[in-house]
Amino acid sequence: MNKNKCRVTTTEGKEFVSEGSMSILDSALGAGFIFEYSCKNGQCGVCKTTLLDGDVEEIAPQQSLTKQEKQQGMILSCCCEPVSDILIDAEDLSALHGIEIKTLPARISSIQQMSPDIVEVVLRLPPTADFNFLEGQYLDVIGPNGVRRSYSIASSSSQKEITLLIKKVEGGVLSQYWFFDARENDLVRIEGPKGTFFIRDLGKSLLFLGTGTGIAPVISMLQALDEKEGFVQTHPIRVFWGNRFKEDFVLCPKFKRLDVDFVKVLSRQDDVWVFETGYVQDVALTKVSDLNNLQVYACGSNEMIQSAKRKFFDSGLPEKNFFSDAFVQSL
Ligand SMILES: Cc1cc2nc3c(=O)[nH]c(=O)nc-3n(C[C@H](O)[C@H](O)[C@H](O)COP(=O)(O)OP(=O)(O)OC[C@H]3O[C@@H](n4cnc5c(N)ncnc54)[C@H](O)[C@@H]3O)c2cc1C
Repeated sequence: MNKNKCRVTTTEGKEFVSEGSMSILDSALGAGFIFEYSCKNGQCGVCKTTLLDGDVEEIAPQQSLTKQEKQQGMILSCCCEPVSDILIDAEDLSALHGIEIKTLPARISSIQQMSPDIVEVVLRLPPTADFNFLEGQYLDVIGPNGVRRSYSIASSSSQKEITLLIKKVEGGVLSQYWFFDARENDLVRIEGPKGTFFIRDLGKSLLFLGTGTGIAPVISMLQALDEKEGFVQTHPIRVFWGNRFKEDFVLCPKFKRLDVDFVKVLSRQDDVWVFETGYVQDVALTKVSDLNNLQVYACGSNEMIQSAKRKFFDSGLPEKNFFSDAFVQSL
């Protein structure tokens, strides 16, 4: 096969053809296969995979790969194109099959300031939209002047409208819109759902780590579990939610059936704070045992996620039990 048409085979025996200057990930998505991914721009590292045979070329910098990982044959599927037939170690996530990525108009149903730095935006889709997603996934909002940013869905799929929790980034283009210019009934576009952050295995204890608005997909996942017909909770569910400022703890989720240990962790010292202090990953590690029987879902700042990964792996968490969605800058 020539450089522009290479066969990609996975260790599961799935096969597709990669044509032109497309990343392996985009070729896989185009062919109907879904590998682990999140930011699609090399920063989060979720689409890391091992190249077992053949050659690839970098089409975007693989920022989150260490030198050692590169030497071990690892690549980011969002940043590389094949230049020969290749064999990779990647799993096709069948749970996401049938979930179609759509571009749809959406009206702002409500926009509410929850703290000086956080707004809750509720979007109304056309009645015929048929927008399906797995709780934990994100979507892209295409706002004024076509500016596109990713936001995790904070509501469950049983809700008619879609809720987003958005944090202000100083000088940010869409932050300016959400915090100053946006009005109820404004029209934006959304593209989604995207990403592979969703609950994998209900037969293990679940530990969620969220920083800032990284709590959004966690609430969505737990809400769905709370509503899931026939679901009987057999393992502990713990959430550690970290913020720098007390006023950013803008939610106090209540569940009808789930028993959730919901712990607020403030990263800055505060004399009147009566909950936990420190970093979520550190506080969580002191509270969990039996890491073999645990799944960790981490969402929010990339610093927290990378640190949590290192610390949990060093403490014995199997790598396959860690899932993350990093709120890195949208490129
Ligand atoms: C998969 C994914 C899901 C996301 N989900 C959410 C969500 O649910 N809620 C939410 O609030 N945000 C989320 N984000 C981040 C969001 O997409 C934007 O990056 C963020 O809101 C800033 O957009 P902006 O237009 O205001 O700033 P920009 O105009 O993009 O950036 C302004 C400046 O701020 C800095 N900056 C931009 N983004 C970040 C960042 N994320 N962290 C640190 N510095 C930054 C950069 O230096 C940049 O020059 C998510 C990101 C990803 C990749």
